[in-house]
Amino acid sequence: MKTTPFWTEECPRPADLPVSDLPERVDVAVIGSGYTGLNAAIALRKAGASVAVLEQQTIGWGASSRNGGMATTGLKEEMPNVFKRYGDEMGRAFWRWALDSIDHVEQMVEEEEIACNFSRSGHVTLAFKPSHYKHFAGEAQWFHDNLAYEDLWVVDKAQVRAEIGSNAYFGGIVDRNSAALHPARYVFGLAQAAARRGAHLVEHAEVTGLARTATGFRILTRKGEMQAGDVLMATNGYTGNVVPGLRRGIFPVGSYIITTEPLPLELQQELSPRGRMFFDSRHFLNYFRITPDGRMLFGGRHNLSPNLDLLESAQMMRRRMVEVFPALRDVPLTHTWTGRLGLTFDLMPHVGRVDGVAYAYGYAGHGVSVASYLGKEAGEMLAGKRATSLFAQIKHDRYPFTPYDKLYLPIVSQWFRFLDRVS
Ligand SMILES: Cc1cc2nc3c(=O)[nH]c(=O)nc-3n(C[C@H](O)[C@H](O)[C@H](O)COP(=O)(O)OP(=O)(O)OC[C@H]3O[C@@H](n4cnc5c(N)ncnc54)[C@H](O)[C@@H]3O)c2cc1C
Repeated sequence: MKTTPFWTEECPRPADLPVSDLPERVDVAVIGSGYTGLNAAIALRKAGASVAVLEQQTIGWGASSRNGGMATTGLKEEMPNVFKRYGDEMGRAFWRWALDSIDHVEQMVEEEEIACNFSRSGHVTLAFKPSHYKHFAGEAQWFHDNLAYEDLWVVDKAQVRAEIGSNAYFGGIVDRNSAALHPARYVFGLAQAAARRGAHLVEHAEVTGLARTATGFRILTRKGEMQAGDVLMATNGYTGNVVPGLRRGIFPVGSYIITTEPLPLELQQELSPRGRMFFDSRHFLNYFRITPDGRMLFGGRHNLSPNLDLLESAQMMRRRMVEVFPALRDVPLTHTWTGRLGLTFDLMPHVGRVDGVAYAYGYAGHGVSVASYLGKEAGEMLAGKRATSLFAQIKHDRYPFTPYDKLYLPIVSQWFRFLDRVS
């Protein structure tokens, strides 16, 4: 079994991707080359600004080439909580924004001709316990009443069998607007588009320090120094201490994925008759789907640590997969890998400035469309084409020191495990 992502084995970083050396000076330096950084770079180039995308590894290396490829509706924070916290009007605006974010991905894919298997296949949230299913009718009603959203509906235990070939669940909520894509094809397509539009893509250029100058920033990288008028940190779950105030507003969490060998077509259709994406209703949820080449991709975590052993996590994930789909008991696994999500304390994405440095991050496992759209908005703000973003208008909590990860994450993990047992 390989311990690298299946997606980048099937679609490696294109050999002809036009990467360059560090330019001397640009209008905006974007740090991080995932969906956030590349969408920002494209928006900046559309507005005529000069841009360098600086990546510590190779372009697209982070979560953007190793995720589940599920662009699902909403945000990580549940919509009723968003309404309670920010009020009805702002809540509706966040929901609309999240729907627009999927449209934005679709538009980018069309405009830039990115062949990344984008499809509006919809998703199903699956009730792990009868008590979870009991809440589903009320949840769906809440979406009808507060958002006039008619594109989701509840299916009971018998009906859910038309959505998924498993007896493990007590019903589900189907949402037809969510989209699936091949994450590596999408991120490398964005990189090609950014390069075509004139952005410098610089690999192996870890940024190690930023210093303010009279005209912007001096940027220290492993490849040397450069100048920029402005800087956008687009480092999400890989955010380090370059700007300590940014690190204190996010913590990295691991997510783990396995894939099987390609399944026979009849078995694919039996397990996922409508080609939906799935996740279950637990705190430590599992998410899964069939890949474009017919494998079962199964992801999740039983712990928030980013440092689990990949073979152990594969065994754990395999046990869960076989509980859901006993027919996969003897199907060999081909890949096990991990990547980092960026969690914020309020489970909301944030965009703004800390110590003069612009940033956009905090997607918490819900970043395929949200990072793309917030990256575009951040780019437009830096180019002076947009005054603000909804996510710039909400409070962003930061903690006074960073070792909280080590204290906080094990406590949260225990709490989630407790909730999954009792609720
Ligand atoms: C296993 C997994 C499964 C997921 N599944 C889903 C899913 O199905 N649906 C969904 O919506 N979301 C999912 N996500 C989340 C989604 O992938 C992320 O939210 C999104 O990719 C974040 O994009 P980004 O551009 O902000 O960050 P990334 O793509 O993580 O890019 C950040 C980049 O910054 C670089 N970097 C960091 N520090 C520096 C530095 N100092 N100098 C230079 N470069 C630096 C890193 O090397 C990295 O390449 C998943 C994430 C993981 C890990």
